[in-house]
Amino acid sequence: MQDILSMNLQELQTAIQELHEPIYKAKQIYHWLHVRKIQEFSQMTDLSSALRLKLEANFEIKKLIISKKLESKLDDTVKYLYQLPDGQHVETVLMHYQHGWRICISTQVGCKMGCQFCASAIAGYVRNLTTSEMLLQIDETERNANIKISGIVLMGIGEPLDNFQNVMKFLELLSDSKGRQMSLRHVTISTCGIVPKIRELADKKTGLTLAVSLHQASDLQRNKIMPVNKKYPLQELMNACKYYFAVTGRRITYEYAVMEDENDSFADAQTLAKLLKNQQAHVNLIPVNTVKERNYHATRKSAKKFMQYLEILGIHATVRRTLGSDIQAACGQLRHEIDNKRE
Ligand code: SAH
Repeated sequence: MQDILSMNLQELQTAIQELHEPIYKAKQIYHWLHVRKIQEFSQMTDLSSALRLKLEANFEIKKLIISKKLESKLDDTVKYLYQLPDGQHVETVLMHYQHGWRICISTQVGCKMGCQFCASAIAGYVRNLTTSEMLLQIDETERNANIKISGIVLMGIGEPLDNFQNVMKFLELLSDSKGRQMSLRHVTISTCGIVPKIRELADKKTGLTLAVSLHQASDLQRNKIMPVNKKYPLQELMNACKYYFAVTGRRITYEYAVMEDENDSFADAQTLAKLLKNQQAHVNLIPVNTVKERNYHATRKSAKKFMQYLEILGIHATVRRTLGSDIQAACGQLRHEIDNKRE
Protein backbone atom coordinates (compact mmCIF):
# COMPACT_ATOMS: atom_id res chain seq x y z
CA MET A 1 0.00 0.00 0.00
CA GLN A 2 1.38 3.38 -0.96
CA ASP A 3 1.46 6.21 1.57
CA ILE A 4 -0.65 8.65 -0.45
CA LEU A 5 -0.21 11.62 1.91
CA SER A 6 3.55 11.57 1.33
CA MET A 7 3.17 11.94 -2.45
CA ASN A 8 3.45 15.21 -4.33
CA LEU A 9 1.02 16.02 -7.13
CA GLN A 10 3.34 14.77 -9.84
CA GLU A 11 3.83 11.41 -8.13
CA LEU A 12 0.11 11.13 -7.60
CA GLN A 13 -0.52 11.86 -11.29
CA THR A 14 1.85 9.08 -12.31
CA ALA A 15 0.24 6.65 -9.89
CA ILE A 16 -3.27 7.55 -11.10
CA GLN A 17 -2.26 6.99 -14.71
CA GLU A 18 -0.85 3.62 -13.77
CA LEU A 19 -4.33 2.75 -12.51
CA HIS A 20 -5.66 3.69 -15.98
CA GLU A 21 -7.53 6.71 -14.67
CA PRO A 22 -7.51 10.19 -16.24
CA ILE A 23 -4.69 12.38 -14.96
CA TYR A 24 -6.98 15.23 -13.80
CA LYS A 25 -8.37 13.01 -11.05
CA ALA A 26 -5.04 13.32 -9.26
CA LYS A 27 -5.64 17.03 -8.68
CA GLN A 28 -9.04 16.34 -7.16
CA ILE A 29 -7.58 13.71 -4.84
CA TYR A 30 -4.66 15.94 -3.89
CA HIS A 31 -7.10 18.72 -3.01
CA TRP A 32 -9.13 16.41 -0.77
CA LEU A 33 -5.97 15.29 1.02
CA HIS A 34 -4.05 18.53 1.43
CA VAL A 35 -6.69 21.27 1.40
CA ARG A 36 -9.80 19.58 2.80
CA LYS A 37 -7.65 17.21 4.86
CA ILE A 38 -10.14 14.35 4.82
CA GLN A 39 -9.17 11.05 6.42
CA GLU A 40 -11.11 8.46 4.38
CA PHE A 41 -11.38 7.81 0.65
CA SER A 42 -15.16 7.47 1.13
CA GLN A 43 -15.26 11.22 1.89
CA MET A 44 -14.03 12.09 -1.62
CA THR A 45 -17.60 12.64 -2.72
CA ASP A 46 -16.92 13.95 -6.23
CA LEU A 47 -15.21 10.70 -7.26
CA SER A 48 -17.09 7.64 -8.47
CA SER A 49 -17.47 4.85 -5.94
CA ALA A 50 -15.53 2.56 -8.30
CA LEU A 51 -12.55 4.91 -8.21
CA ARG A 52 -12.78 5.29 -4.45
CA LEU A 53 -12.63 1.50 -4.09
CA LYS A 54 -9.66 1.38 -6.43
CA LEU A 55 -7.90 4.01 -4.32
CA GLU A 56 -8.62 2.09 -1.16
CA ALA A 57 -7.12 -1.04 -2.66
CA ASN A 58 -3.90 0.70 -3.67
CA PHE A 59 -3.28 3.51 -1.20
CA GLU A 60 -3.36 4.15 2.49
CA ILE A 61 -4.24 7.44 4.22
CA LYS A 62 -2.10 7.23 7.32
CA LYS A 63 -3.47 8.32 10.68
CA LEU A 64 -2.09 9.24 14.07
CA ILE A 65 -3.73 8.29 17.35
CA ILE A 66 -3.55 10.53 20.41
CA SER A 67 -2.02 8.32 23.12
CA LYS A 68 -1.76 11.09 25.65
CA LYS A 69 -2.69 14.75 25.83
CA LEU A 70 -1.32 17.00 28.54
CA GLU A 71 -2.72 20.50 28.96
CA SER A 72 -0.77 23.08 30.91
CA LYS A 73 -2.54 24.81 33.77
CA LEU A 74 -0.06 27.69 33.61
CA ASP A 75 -0.55 28.67 29.95
CA ASP A 76 -2.20 27.42 26.76
CA THR A 77 0.50 24.86 25.94
CA VAL A 78 -0.71 21.38 24.99
CA LYS A 79 1.53 18.38 24.55
CA TYR A 80 0.46 15.39 22.48
CA LEU A 81 1.97 11.96 22.49
CA TYR A 82 1.04 10.50 19.10
CA GLN A 83 1.01 6.87 18.20
CA LEU A 84 2.23 6.21 14.67
CA PRO A 85 0.76 3.52 12.40
CA ASP A 86 3.50 1.04 13.44
CA GLY A 87 2.91 1.57 17.17
CA GLN A 88 5.90 3.87 17.76
CA HIS A 89 5.40 7.19 19.53
CA VAL A 90 6.46 10.81 18.98
CA GLU A 91 5.68 14.09 20.70
CA THR A 92 4.17 17.28 19.40
CA VAL A 93 3.78 20.52 21.34
CA LEU A 94 1.23 23.23 20.62
CA MET A 95 2.04 26.70 21.95
CA HIS A 96 0.09 29.94 21.97
CA TYR A 97 1.93 33.11 21.02
CA GLN A 98 0.82 36.70 20.60
CA HIS A 99 0.47 36.20 16.86
CA GLY A 100 -1.20 32.82 16.87
CA TRP A 101 -0.50 29.14 17.36
CA ARG A 102 2.87 27.56 16.88
CA ILE A 103 3.55 23.85 16.72
CA CYS A 104 6.72 21.97 17.52
CA ILE A 105 6.90 18.70 15.60
CA SER A 106 9.12 15.63 15.72
CA THR A 107 11.07 14.42 12.69
CA GLN A 108 12.37 11.02 13.86
CA VAL A 109 11.41 8.30 16.33
CA GLY A 110 14.29 8.93 18.70
CA CYS A 111 17.60 10.42 17.69
CA LYS A 112 21.14 9.25 16.87
CA MET A 113 22.93 12.42 17.89
CA GLY A 114 23.49 11.57 21.55
CA CYS A 115 23.46 15.08 23.09
CA GLN A 116 24.14 14.56 26.79
CA PHE A 117 21.40 16.81 28.17
CA CYS A 118 18.60 15.57 25.89
CA ALA A 119 15.88 13.06 26.77
CA SER A 120 15.63 11.85 23.16
CA ALA A 121 19.19 10.59 23.27
CA ILE A 122 18.40 8.40 26.26
CA ALA A 123 15.34 6.78 24.68
CA GLY A 124 17.36 5.75 21.59
CA TYR A 125 16.84 5.91 17.81
CA VAL A 126 14.29 3.81 15.95
CA ARG A 127 13.56 5.31 12.52
CA ASN A 128 12.91 8.37 10.38
CA LEU A 129 9.41 9.81 10.21
CA THR A 130 7.75 9.77 6.81
CA THR A 131 6.61 13.00 5.21
CA SER A 132 2.99 12.15 5.99
CA GLU A 133 3.78 11.53 9.67
CA MET A 134 5.16 15.07 9.89
CA LEU A 135 2.16 16.59 8.10
CA LEU A 136 -0.24 14.59 10.25
CA GLN A 137 1.16 16.00 13.48
CA ILE A 138 -0.06 19.37 12.22
CA ASP A 139 -3.42 18.15 10.87
CA GLU A 140 -4.30 16.05 13.89
CA THR A 141 -3.38 18.83 16.32
CA GLU A 142 -5.40 21.41 14.38
CA ARG A 143 -8.41 19.07 14.41
CA ASN A 144 -8.10 18.19 18.06
CA ALA A 145 -7.52 21.73 19.35
CA ASN A 146 -9.82 23.30 16.77
CA ILE A 147 -7.29 25.94 15.82
CA LYS A 148 -5.26 27.00 12.78
CA ILE A 149 -1.50 26.78 13.06
CA SER A 150 0.50 29.77 11.83
CA GLY A 151 4.05 28.75 12.74
CA ILE A 152 5.95 25.46 12.66
CA VAL A 153 9.22 24.57 14.36
CA LEU A 154 11.07 21.32 13.69
CA MET A 155 12.43 21.08 17.22
CA GLY A 156 10.73 18.00 18.57
CA ILE A 157 12.25 14.56 18.78
CA GLY A 158 14.94 13.85 16.18
CA GLU A 159 17.51 15.61 14.06
CA PRO A 160 15.70 17.08 11.01
CA LEU A 161 18.83 17.23 8.85
CA ASP A 162 19.46 13.53 9.53
CA ASN A 163 16.10 12.87 7.80
CA PHE A 164 16.86 15.30 5.00
CA GLN A 165 14.89 13.80 2.13
CA ASN A 166 11.61 13.38 4.00
CA VAL A 167 11.95 16.79 5.63
CA MET A 168 12.52 18.44 2.22
CA LYS A 169 9.45 16.67 0.86
CA PHE A 170 7.51 17.86 3.92
CA LEU A 171 8.53 21.45 3.13
CA GLU A 172 7.55 20.96 -0.50
CA LEU A 173 4.07 19.68 0.38
CA LEU A 174 3.61 22.26 3.13
CA SER A 175 4.28 25.18 0.81
CA ASP A 176 2.71 23.83 -2.41
CA SER A 177 0.55 26.52 -4.03
CA LYS A 178 -1.91 23.81 -5.14
CA GLY A 179 -2.16 22.42 -1.63
CA ARG A 180 -1.37 23.66 1.84
CA GLN A 181 0.11 27.04 0.84
CA MET A 182 2.09 27.65 4.02
CA SER A 183 4.84 30.24 3.62
CA LEU A 184 8.16 28.72 4.67
CA ARG A 185 8.97 32.04 6.35
CA HIS A 186 6.85 30.67 9.17
CA VAL A 187 8.97 27.54 9.52
CA THR A 188 12.08 27.03 11.65
CA ILE A 189 14.40 24.04 11.42
CA SER A 190 16.66 23.34 14.35
CA THR A 191 19.86 21.35 13.89
CA CYS A 192 22.69 20.19 16.11
CA GLY A 193 25.04 21.05 13.23
CA ILE A 194 25.19 18.60 10.32
CA VAL A 195 27.47 20.76 8.21
CA PRO A 196 27.00 19.37 4.66
CA LYS A 197 23.22 19.42 5.07
CA ILE A 198 23.24 23.04 6.28
CA ARG A 199 24.99 23.94 3.02
CA GLU A 200 22.57 21.85 0.98
CA LEU A 201 19.63 23.52 2.71
CA ALA A 202 21.12 26.96 2.01
CA ASP A 203 21.32 26.16 -1.70
CA LYS A 204 17.63 25.30 -1.76
CA LYS A 205 16.80 28.90 -0.73
CA THR A 206 13.60 27.92 1.02
CA GLY A 207 13.27 31.13 3.07
CA LEU A 208 12.93 29.25 6.33
CA THR A 209 14.73 30.13 9.56
CA LEU A 210 17.64 27.98 10.63
CA ALA A 211 18.31 27.48 14.32
CA VAL A 212 21.61 25.93 15.32
CA SER A 213 21.97 24.23 18.70
CA LEU A 214 25.30 25.44 20.01
CA HIS A 215 25.27 25.07 23.82
CA GLN A 216 29.06 25.35 24.04
CA ALA A 217 31.44 27.61 22.13
CA SER A 218 34.73 25.74 22.42
CA ASP A 219 35.44 22.40 20.70
CA LEU A 220 36.83 20.87 23.85
CA GLN A 221 33.66 21.56 25.84
CA ARG A 222 31.21 20.95 23.01
CA ASN A 223 32.76 17.56 22.24
CA LYS A 224 31.83 16.49 25.77
CA ILE A 225 28.12 17.25 25.52
CA MET A 226 27.46 17.00 21.77
CA PRO A 227 29.18 14.08 19.98
CA VAL A 228 28.27 15.58 16.58
CA ASN A 229 30.96 18.19 17.25
CA LYS A 230 33.68 15.58 16.84
CA LYS A 231 32.56 15.06 13.26
CA TYR A 232 31.75 18.69 12.47
CA PRO A 233 33.81 20.97 14.74
CA LEU A 234 32.89 24.58 15.44
CA GLN A 235 34.96 26.24 12.74
CA GLU A 236 33.34 24.11 10.04
CA LEU A 237 29.94 24.74 11.58
CA MET A 238 30.50 28.50 11.66
CA ASN A 239 31.64 28.49 8.04
CA ALA A 240 28.47 26.62 7.05
CA CYS A 241 26.36 29.12 9.04
CA LYS A 242 28.07 32.06 7.36
CA TYR A 243 27.41 30.38 4.01
CA TYR A 244 23.74 29.93 4.93
CA PHE A 245 23.43 33.63 5.73
CA ALA A 246 25.35 34.70 2.62
CA VAL A 247 23.16 32.60 0.31
CA THR A 248 19.75 33.14 1.93
CA GLY A 249 20.08 36.49 3.71
CA ARG A 250 18.36 34.85 6.71
CA ARG A 251 19.88 35.51 10.10
CA ILE A 252 20.68 32.37 12.08
CA THR A 253 19.36 31.74 15.56
CA TYR A 254 21.78 30.05 17.93
CA GLU A 255 20.21 27.94 20.64
CA TYR A 256 22.09 27.88 23.92
CA ALA A 257 20.66 25.83 26.79
CA VAL A 258 22.11 27.39 29.91
CA MET A 259 23.47 24.76 32.30
CA GLU A 260 24.77 25.91 35.64
CA ASP A 261 28.50 25.32 36.19
CA GLU A 262 28.73 23.82 32.70
CA ASN A 263 28.39 26.72 30.26
CA ASP A 264 27.16 29.81 32.17
CA SER A 265 30.29 31.64 33.38
CA PHE A 266 31.51 35.01 32.15
CA ALA A 267 34.41 33.20 30.47
CA ASP A 268 31.87 31.00 28.62
CA ALA A 269 30.10 34.17 27.44
CA GLN A 270 33.41 35.57 26.22
CA THR A 271 34.16 32.38 24.26
CA LEU A 272 30.69 32.54 22.71
CA ALA A 273 31.01 36.22 21.84
CA LYS A 274 34.34 35.54 20.17
CA LEU A 275 32.87 32.69 18.13
CA LEU A 276 29.94 34.78 16.90
CA LYS A 277 31.69 38.07 16.29
CA ASN A 278 31.21 39.50 12.80
CA GLN A 279 28.01 37.47 12.40
CA GLN A 280 24.41 38.62 12.21
CA ALA A 281 23.56 36.23 14.99
CA HIS A 282 20.81 36.02 17.51
CA VAL A 283 21.25 33.88 20.61
CA ASN A 284 18.26 32.18 22.16
CA LEU A 285 18.91 31.21 25.76
CA ILE A 286 16.92 28.40 27.35
CA PRO A 287 17.32 27.38 30.98
CA VAL A 288 18.06 23.66 30.52
CA ASN A 289 15.19 21.33 31.29
CA THR A 290 16.40 18.82 33.79
CA VAL A 291 16.13 15.28 32.48
CA LYS A 292 16.01 12.95 35.43
CA GLU A 293 18.81 10.65 34.22
CA ARG A 294 21.15 13.66 33.90
CA ASN A 295 22.38 16.23 36.34
CA TYR A 296 22.12 19.44 34.35
CA HIS A 297 20.05 22.22 35.83
CA ALA A 298 19.43 25.95 35.54
CA THR A 299 16.96 28.62 36.58
CA ARG A 300 15.50 31.50 34.62
CA LYS A 301 17.68 33.71 36.76
CA SER A 302 20.90 32.03 35.67
CA ALA A 303 19.81 32.33 32.02
CA LYS A 304 19.06 36.04 32.53
CA LYS A 305 22.47 36.55 34.08
CA PHE A 306 24.15 34.89 31.11
CA MET A 307 22.11 37.14 28.80
CA GLN A 308 23.49 40.17 30.59
CA TYR A 309 27.04 38.88 30.15
CA LEU A 310 26.39 38.54 26.42
CA GLU A 311 24.90 42.01 26.20
CA ILE A 312 28.00 43.49 27.82
CA LEU A 313 29.99 41.70 25.11
CA GLY A 314 27.78 43.09 22.33
CA ILE A 315 25.89 39.90 21.46
CA HIS A 316 22.15 40.11 20.95
CA ALA A 317 20.39 37.49 23.11
CA THR A 318 16.97 36.71 24.57
CA VAL A 319 15.79 34.24 27.16
CA ARG A 320 13.13 32.04 25.65
CA ARG A 321 9.76 32.19 27.33
CA THR A 322 9.19 29.03 29.34
CA LEU A 323 5.92 27.42 28.28
CA GLY A 324 4.22 24.35 29.62
CA SER A 325 6.77 23.79 32.36
CA ASP A 326 4.21 21.77 34.31
CA ILE A 327 3.66 19.26 31.48
CA GLN A 328 7.23 18.36 30.59
CA ALA A 329 7.01 20.34 27.37
CA ALA A 330 10.67 19.57 26.69
CA CYS A 331 10.52 17.05 23.91
CA GLY A 332 11.55 13.47 24.36
CA GLN A 333 10.47 13.06 27.95
CA LEU A 334 7.05 11.51 27.31
CA ARG A 335 8.21 9.06 24.68
CA HIS A 336 10.99 7.99 26.99
CA GLU A 337 8.50 7.36 29.78
CA ILE A 338 6.09 5.29 27.70
CA ASP A 339 8.96 3.19 26.31
CA ASN A 340 10.27 2.55 29.81
CA LYS A 341 6.86 1.35 30.96
CA ARG A 342 6.64 -1.07 28.09
CA GLU A 343 9.94 -2.75 28.83
N1 SAH B 1 18.03 17.81 16.77
C1 SAH B 1 17.68 19.17 16.62
C2 SAH B 1 16.25 19.51 16.99
C3 SAH B 1 15.62 18.84 18.16
S1 SAH B 1 16.08 19.39 19.76
C4 SAH B 1 18.67 20.04 17.36
O1 SAH B 1 19.56 19.52 18.01
O2 SAH B 1 18.59 21.26 17.24
C5 SAH B 1 15.45 21.01 19.91
C6 SAH B 1 16.27 21.89 20.84
O3 SAH B 1 16.10 21.50 22.20
C7 SAH B 1 17.76 21.85 20.55
O4 SAH B 1 18.30 23.13 20.64
C8 SAH B 1 18.25 20.97 21.69
O5 SAH B 1 19.62 21.14 21.92
C9 SAH B 1 17.38 21.45 22.82
N2 SAH B 1 17.32 20.59 23.98
C10 SAH B 1 17.41 19.25 24.05
N3 SAH B 1 17.32 18.83 25.32
C11 SAH B 1 17.16 19.93 26.08
C12 SAH B 1 17.01 20.14 27.46
N4 SAH B 1 17.02 19.12 28.33
N5 SAH B 1 16.86 21.42 27.88
C13 SAH B 1 16.86 22.45 27.01
N6 SAH B 1 16.99 22.31 25.69
C14 SAH B 1 17.16 21.06 25.23
